[in-house]
Amino acid sequence: MDDPFAGKRRRMTEEQLRARGIADEAVLRAMARVPRERFVAEGLRGSAYVDGPLPIGRGQTISQPYIVAYMTERLELSGREAVLEIGTGSGYQAAVLAETASRVYTVERIPELSAGARALLEGELGYRNVFYKVGRGQEGWAEFAPFERIVLTAAPEEFPAPLFRQLAEGGIALAPLGAGGQSLVRFRKREGRIDAEELIGVVFVPLV
Ligand code: SAH
Repeated sequence: MDDPFAGKRRRMTEEQLRARGIADEAVLRAMARVPRERFVAEGLRGSAYVDGPLPIGRGQTISQPYIVAYMTERLELSGREAVLEIGTGSGYQAAVLAETASRVYTVERIPELSAGARALLEGELGYRNVFYKVGRGQEGWAEFAPFERIVLTAAPEEFPAPLFRQLAEGGIALAPLGAGGQSLVRFRKREGRIDAEELIGVVFVPLV
């Protein structure tokens, strides 16, 4: 099929991702496959591969491609993991996770965003390994816990305690933390203990 966005997507993958140090081939492959233009309003499709975040309605945004790739790479996925994502938004990060993990459980506060993401991912793009919940992300999704990976795409001031309980032993959680200046923090759970490592400065919408 003739895909007018394929060239832009390949260029984004090389120039914005590989050139800046994203090296995990599975992540690069996923970023080169997921049609980012489908996750934004029609009028924004021409800008879908610019090097920045884009609005997705309801005051929310889809992250810059580099940040999506960076976070996915820092999750160190083998392809076998169950991942809990907080903040479905457009569903773009969920699609990248669906390509790189085994199952994705994604929780969103705004029902319209959750339904829109589901219609696109399941109905149009055919992903069968993504599960959707409308609710408060701070509470996670106990029914399907534990998760080998947890990723927050909205920023709380502190990592929500229930989510640590839902993280599998040996698992990794990634979250932007802070109110003003935020840092992306990576947690590892080892023998029940949590180690934290600060990665980079980021700007996410707040977890509310
Ligand atoms: N991952 C998304 C971008 C997320 S933007 C993407 O790839 O498009 C952050 C999202 O977190 C928004 O959709 C917002 O509604 C949601 N959110 C904010 N607070 C939340 C909460 N407490 N629980 C669940 N979702 C929340």
